[in-house]
Amino acid sequence: MIVIGGGLAGLAAGVALAESGWRVKLFELRPYLGGRATSYVLPSGEHVDNCQHVTLGCCTNLDDFYRRVGSADKVKFFDRLFFLDPQGRSGAMQAGILPAPFHMTSSFATFAPLSLGDKLSIARAMMRILFTGGKPKEVNTPAGMSMLEWLKSQKQTPRAIERFWRVVLVSALDEELDGTDARFGIDVFWKAFLSNRTGYRMGVPAVPLAELYDGCRVAIEQKGGEVTLRAPVRGVRVEKGMIAVLQFDNDREESADAYVFALPHTALTNLLPPEIKSANPTLASLDKIKVSPITGVHFWFDRPVTSEPFITLLDTNVQWVFNKTALYTDQSDAPVPGAQQYLQLVISASYELLKKNREEIIELCLKEIRQALPAAREAQLVKATVIKEASATFSPEPGVDSFRPAQTTNTPGLFLAGDWTATGWPATMEGAVRSGYLAAEAVLRSAGSPAQFLQPNLAPTGLSKLFAR
Ligand SMILES: Cc1cc2nc3c(=O)[nH]c(=O)nc-3n(C[C@H](O)[C@H](O)[C@H](O)COP(=O)(O)OP(=O)(O)OC[C@H]3O[C@@H](n4cnc5c(N)ncnc54)[C@H](O)[C@@H]3O)c2cc1C
Repeated sequence: MIVIGGGLAGLAAGVALAESGWRVKLFELRPYLGGRATSYVLPSGEHVDNCQHVTLGCCTNLDDFYRRVGSADKVKFFDRLFFLDPQGRSGAMQAGILPAPFHMTSSFATFAPLSLGDKLSIARAMMRILFTGGKPKEVNTPAGMSMLEWLKSQKQTPRAIERFWRVVLVSALDEELDGTDARFGIDVFWKAFLSNRTGYRMGVPAVPLAELYDGCRVAIEQKGGEVTLRAPVRGVRVEKGMIAVLQFDNDREESADAYVFALPHTALTNLLPPEIKSANPTLASLDKIKVSPITGVHFWFDRPVTSEPFITLLDTNVQWVFNKTALYTDQSDAPVPGAQQYLQLVISASYELLKKNREEIIELCLKEIRQALPAAREAQLVKATVIKEASATFSPEPGVDSFRPAQTTNTPGLFLAGDWTATGWPATMEGAVRSGYLAAEAVLRSAGSPAQFLQPNLAPTGLSKLFAR
């Protein structure tokens, strides 16, 4: 069995198949595992995440994957989400004593950055999501409806849109509201905030991302498999409509009974030969799946500037600030001489920043951080790094699900995985793991030994059970 691609989708498929007794050979282009959700050492010596990654309590498959590979205790979960606006007003969202769906009511009622009118409009839209079990029928059109259209149809105030819906959804889905399918947006609120008390809890890795995958190699090698890094697949030879051989550098060739291609959709399109594409019409739409950017900015200050583990900023370009010094268990992972605090800032759907150079981005973000955190005004910025990911995720635009192929194909022995395949989830680590598990299930089904890896969603609790579908 061969898996191509060592991102979360390929790793989840590889580990699941190895656990089922298959000898898995996994080939990864880069010198490390984790794909987009990884970390590496900069030429200057610091170990940085490609970008801060977070998970939520509702991401049940990612949680299962971390458990399988022994990484669950490397992710810290937080119950309190902290928000700060440029006027210095703060607010926290946290579950209180009430059962779902009312567990957030008291922190929402006292949330200073929103007015009473904003809150009433949000409560109305939340009720619509709740009463329909997260599936309001008006968004179920074949072409999809944008989240912004839906919010306007629910008569949301401009500030509720900007300071609540946009804040949560642009970070969760990496797209502006007018470019987001309302089904994805509504699902985030149903699964994370309404259906149970724990779906919103935020999990933040306490180690550089690459360290989460140490157990994957062990799981695959224990069953006689291999993980090969710096091993890009260069070509695919097809015979009689089936994959005969994968071609690597230095004339290396490999073949197997089954292949899971767990590549980004853009890379898959370039790799698959025309015979495979013509046998699989669902692959014809891959080039219609657009991508959206995320920019990560890393700041090292000469003194502590915040004690919060992470902060959501309102009305600024910077959306999230992660206090890596507080979050990392081992501080020796990112040593910068003279630095006392390491912050990582995240800007999702960062289309505007793509046009700016490194210095402009640093200046803009530093200004916003100094505005938000008074202690940063006196602090010296010792070092800064900007990592732009132009193709961070697929864009969850209305109707995109119709372009996403299943994990099974018409070509015997060929299976697909990747956050962009049909999982019903947006481009997230959870979506990638789901795709890997679905691909592994499909491989086992085709071999006549079915097994289940996919984990169910968090069960609705409290009164939300009455509305779940
Ligand atoms: C900046 C950024 C921030 C993000 N933040 C979050 C977040 O906070 N929470 C969240 O849930 N998700 C987040 N995501 C999304 C998440 O990272 C992805 O959805 C997920 O990691 C995708 O996994 P994948 O395995 O589908 O694809 P990938 O991670 O892209 O894996 C594909 C792998 O295939 C390899 N490959 C490519 N070509 C070849 C070849 N020819 N031969 C062999 N190997 C090849 C690649 O090197 C790569 O390792 C973020 C993404 C980015 C970029």
